[in-house]
Amino acid sequence: MPVTDAARRPTSHSVLVIGGGNAGLSVAGRLRRLGVKDIAVIEPRTEHLYKPIFSHIAGGTAPASKAVRSQRSVTPKGVEWIQDAVTSIDPDADTVTLASGSVVGYDHLIICPGIQKDWDGIPGLAEAMRTPEGISNYEFDLAQKASARLRDITRGTVVFSQPAGPASCAGAGQKPMYLACDYWRARGILSDIEVVMLVPDETVFGMPDIDRELNRKIAEYGITLRTQTTLGSVDAASRTIVTEHPVRGSETLSYDLLSVEPPQSAPDWLVGSGLTDASGFVDVDPYTLRHPRHGNVWALGDAAATLNSKSGGALRKQTLTLAKNLVAVLRGEPMPERYNGYSVCPFTVSRSTVVFAEFDDQYRPVPSVPFWKGLARERRLTWVFDRHILPWVYWHMILQGRA
Ligand SMILES: Cc1cc2nc3c(=O)[nH]c(=O)nc-3n(C[C@H](O)[C@H](O)[C@H](O)COP(=O)(O)OP(=O)(O)OC[C@H]3O[C@@H](n4cnc5c(N)ncnc54)[C@H](O)[C@@H]3O)c2cc1C
Repeated sequence: MPVTDAARRPTSHSVLVIGGGNAGLSVAGRLRRLGVKDIAVIEPRTEHLYKPIFSHIAGGTAPASKAVRSQRSVTPKGVEWIQDAVTSIDPDADTVTLASGSVVGYDHLIICPGIQKDWDGIPGLAEAMRTPEGISNYEFDLAQKASARLRDITRGTVVFSQPAGPASCAGAGQKPMYLACDYWRARGILSDIEVVMLVPDETVFGMPDIDRELNRKIAEYGITLRTQTTLGSVDAASRTIVTEHPVRGSETLSYDLLSVEPPQSAPDWLVGSGLTDASGFVDVDPYTLRHPRHGNVWALGDAAATLNSKSGGALRKQTLTLAKNLVAVLRGEPMPERYNGYSVCPFTVSRSTVVFAEFDDQYRPVPSVPFWKGLARERRLTWVFDRHILPWVYWHMILQGRA
């Protein structure tokens, strides 16, 4: 039977979204609400994970069930879900190729497949994570392991480590540490546990107000903070790590538990697409979120080369900016919105308080409640928001493009 032109032509969508995570579903939901029809999201996973709650799971303040919903149940109504993974993009032909071999066309493409976790980027790290002593809040299964291990340890050395370079909610590696310290203090065993935190920068976070709050908690819990220090290698057999410092050089440290935020980078498969900048992330105008050379390509979230610190909170502003700008382009109008670089990192500094860091792309404070810097102080109010209100808002409003 002869193959017709129609049969040869790839399936095509007005708006095609790569990645059905926080960014992909929220922006699809916003576009749908703005009246855009024929939106498809490509996402391989059957389960959607709410990552900010991983820190609570690891630190013992939320059950694992709070992180998971089926992808189908959270995909906004009227948006098509293509269960597959993109392997390459051809921005000149306006098509993407999927792992199944299918080719899908688009009028506009939104790229948001998240960031890549490089567990193999540090010698011995991947192997160490497979031992009982290797834990993390950056993977769902390791967060569940962390919860049990941090609960059960009664003495020894626990090392927490945060990497240099780009990261999704960079400070999140610290969160289970404060939660665990508060728990150990309540059990009366904190003095039997030596807690060491490795951070890559000169201070614990990088904003004076936030550093002050975190340093107060670090002193209160007796944590040894090693600044400008990164994890160089891990030897799981001897339970030792080698740390790197620009002046002190390499030092060896023993651990009984090792909690690691892994090094992160742009997804490897994007290289060669012609759409990335020197960092490997998707090149976009950081204010409009539109690609500088391909006017029908957009990016946001952890995979975009924007200037802000990568976070879900940043996405609430990014999704609105991108959706309104894309709709304006569809109508032939000027783009009305500019993303202001807003980001957020809620530090769970105890089992009932949070230090809510809100900042722009130069780490200047950007409080949600204008002129009130109080949210950046340790508060119960922000704990209630982070642990109880925000997860509800995420599942019911953010993913639907309503917030
Ligand atoms: C431990 C942890 C704690 C955090 N805490 C906070 C917090 O407290 N507050 C905050 O604001 N932010 C927090 N974040 C950051 C926040 O979760 C991310 O910034 C946000 O999820 C980024 O959204 P995204 O859609 O860009 O990426 P993701 O949410 O990672 O989604 C990317 C999606 O793309 C899919 N995908 C990947 N490759 C492909 C492909 N080739 N084809 C198709 N689909 C693909 C993935 O399966 C995934 O579903 C935290 C992150 C972590 C890891």
